[in-house]
Amino acid sequence: MATALVLEEAGKLSLRDIALTETLGSGDVRISIDTVGICGSDVHYYTYGKIGPFVVRKPMVLGHEAAGVVTERGADVTHLGVGDRVCMEPGIPNPASKASKLGVYNVDPDVQFWATPPVHGCLTPSVVHPAAFTYRLPDNVTMAEGAMVEPFAIGMQATARAKIKPGDVALVTGSGPIGLMCALSALAGGCATVFITDLVEEKLQIAARYENIKPLLIPRDDVSERLKAATEGWGADVVFECAGAAASIQTALDAVAPAGCVVWVGMPVDPVPVDIVLAQSKEIRMETVFRYANMYDRAIALIGSGKVDLKPLISETFGFEESIKAFDRAVEARPTDVKIQIKVSGS
Ligand code: ZN
Repeated sequence: MATALVLEEAGKLSLRDIALTETLGSGDVRISIDTVGICGSDVHYYTYGKIGPFVVRKPMVLGHEAAGVVTERGADVTHLGVGDRVCMEPGIPNPASKASKLGVYNVDPDVQFWATPPVHGCLTPSVVHPAAFTYRLPDNVTMAEGAMVEPFAIGMQATARAKIKPGDVALVTGSGPIGLMCALSALAGGCATVFITDLVEEKLQIAARYENIKPLLIPRDDVSERLKAATEGWGADVVFECAGAAASIQTALDAVAPAGCVVWVGMPVDPVPVDIVLAQSKEIRMETVFRYANMYDRAIALIGSGKVDLKPLISETFGFEESIKAFDRAVEARPTDVKIQIKVSGS
């Protein structure tokens, strides 16, 4: 039995004891959880009890964005040791699956992902995790940053899909946490300038703290015109659509340059019409992303190098005993909040 933040059903959280698997396999490490970030998906499960086909049918521990310290290692683990500061990839594929063999383990239909029903998450003081999906943090990367690697890896995946060339101009639609992760990844990946849109000025002010990220307020600013003005009439080389709204999907297709690329990152709640002829007339490339594969070590390397600073995005940290309060704060969705974290243990 362990204490954990348990989602009992939609709208009902409790911090209570629950039976969790704690057997350490030969390829596993035991990790004392230090920090866990609250993700939009955790909040969605809390509010609605489901995301698409994933329905919370019995009590489930929340949390999947975590960093901690190794406290025990299995007999076959050689690359990690007790005391190592680490962060964990929350999705574990079947290593024998076709997806794993192809290197696209993120789309393995059998992937077991923390806090995706029926799999428990990591908002509990100790977890057992495969060492192959556990990554050591450099000394200069904090636990709070380690817990930000998970959402940052999505931006990394989108940036890799975009095949950015040095000096590209990018547009990100939607300045939520994932939009910001795409913007920072795109800059680190070689973009000269990244424009970012939102309907809410406070969100854009957070984005604008970063050099070379240019905010565009909707509907005040005409996004296509601003992109054209910045690119001698050509348009954005790359667009990361992160809002998942019909209007921003149209904006993405309007603003992208001929032969440019649109990466569909945001997830519309319902199917949305897409202007295929407009896309064809510019012969744009379209890409999609689902989580990430093989991005954690690259993400950690960029954070450790100082090229990407995620610290300004950590809005507030709550103690483990305040976990429910932390979730209620996340539900408020204050425009000035990017990432709310929970400090589970450690110093
Ligand atoms: Zn997440």
